Amino acid sequence: MKSINPATGEVRRTFDELSDAELEQRLARAAETFPAWRRVPFAERSRLMAAAGALLVAEKEKLGRLLTLEMGKTLASAVAEVEKCASACRYYAEHAERHLADVDLSSGDLRAWVRHLPLGPVLAVMPWNFPFWQVFRFAAPALMAGNVGLLKHASNVPECALAIEDVFRRAGFPAGAFQTLLIGSKRVSQVIADGRVVAVTLTGSDAAGQQVAREAGEALKKVVLELGGSDPFVVMPSADLEQAVKTGVTARMINNGQSCIAAKRFVVHAAIYDRFVERYVERVKALRVGDPLLPETDVGPLSTEAGLRQVEQQVDDSVKAGARCLWGGRRIEGRGFFYAPTVLADIPPAAPAFREEVFGPVALLFRARDLDDAIRIANDTPYGLGSSVWTHDAAERARFVDEFEAGQTFVNAMVASDPRIPFGGVKRSGFGRELARLGILEFVNQKTVLVK
Ligand code: NDP
Repeated sequence: MKSINPATGEVRRTFDELSDAELEQRLARAAETFPAWRRVPFAERSRLMAAAGALLVAEKEKLGRLLTLEMGKTLASAVAEVEKCASACRYYAEHAERHLADVDLSSGDLRAWVRHLPLGPVLAVMPWNFPFWQVFRFAAPALMAGNVGLLKHASNVPECALAIEDVFRRAGFPAGAFQTLLIGSKRVSQVIADGRVVAVTLTGSDAAGQQVAREAGEALKKVVLELGGSDPFVVMPSADLEQAVKTGVTARMINNGQSCIAAKRFVVHAAIYDRFVERYVERVKALRVGDPLLPETDVGPLSTEAGLRQVEQQVDDSVKAGARCLWGGRRIEGRGFFYAPTVLADIPPAAPAFREEVFGPVALLFRARDLDDAIRIANDTPYGLGSSVWTHDAAERARFVDEFEAGQTFVNAMVASDPRIPFGGVKRSGFGRELARLGILEFVNQKTVLVK
């Protein structure tokens, strides 16, 4: 496995995959740790989780630099990501016990309640785009619930994968509570099929999600999927246009355009379309692309050469199919995997950008005739992760909230995850929820207890 700096293309370090014997050792350790870990009282689990959070805060600059060097996000956003992981640790350290308290169902002569019990070793297959956050938002609730975690991280972020394991170890968790498995995706099936692994969660592409869901189904194991998205960002005439434009650029270009909940399709009411587009393109032109370690950089490289090629192909094919490129539309020559921030308009249904997730700094603009048309365009996608609408009209807002086919609708705000609110999708964006109370309930046995 190679850790390659996407800003330069240089190989930083290489790692050997785990041998079969090493993998077996780790699975055995997870299974041995679980019975003891599930008995550790909440107070002690909370203490350890808070310690992990404190380590993240203390080391945010060092860890943030690692994220930037390994996957290219800007240093400021990398440091913020590490801080956000600390907030998830604190959130679950503080709230897990309450979220998992018994739910009393007693009434009349019925004495019954639901108790929340851990399941065992859970496998997490995670992507590189938020290499710390994606892992912590799984691990913090899973470990607080008394499960143990096994991480199969994306092959291009092995250093982050090992650094996370190290954080939990140094915070005081037992060695088997959270382990990184340096294995390629071909060996995931074997881990899912292993009798000691009880459940699996995957964040990534829908293709990977399909395969993992199929294998989990075969083994009859619980699965949570957080897959891609092509989120709509709808702007109506009553919106604060300047704010919508400004936030819309951030919402698309965040993480160098590689976020599942990035605003990818801008659906703008005809009455304000031209004004929106003019201002949007103006702001995109002003973005500074460059070395992600420099504080003035807005957009860094894509994380891998394959990712760069995919975005290039999707844009080229979309333009060939008739889409109009208003800005960008090309890779940036030279070292590293840089793609110019791009704006496409008049995208025909035959263009790849119309239906596929474009995982790079490419904004897609759509003109909506009216409210119904805006909802129709917003929902005309196989995905259903997030959605954002900009309006100050209460009746309009109610329609969007009820009719967007998405796991979350944010009004006058960009979609963002937060430990306090649930996160997840519908349609091809997956199923199950992460974060908040719903997130911690995914990997527990909600046992009904009845006493006579
Ligand atoms: P993948 O979905 O391929 O990778 C995500 C994780 O899944 C990695 O750990 C990967 O391992 C693993 N994986 C991949 N295929 C399988 C499989 N068949 N069985 C089990 N595990 C698997 O994402 P990519 O990095 O290849 O990106 C491709 C596209 O996916 C992007 O362009 C984007 O559209 C989408 N994507 C969406 C994300 C999101 O947050 N919504 C995040 C990442 C990607 P390994 O690295 O070893 O292959």
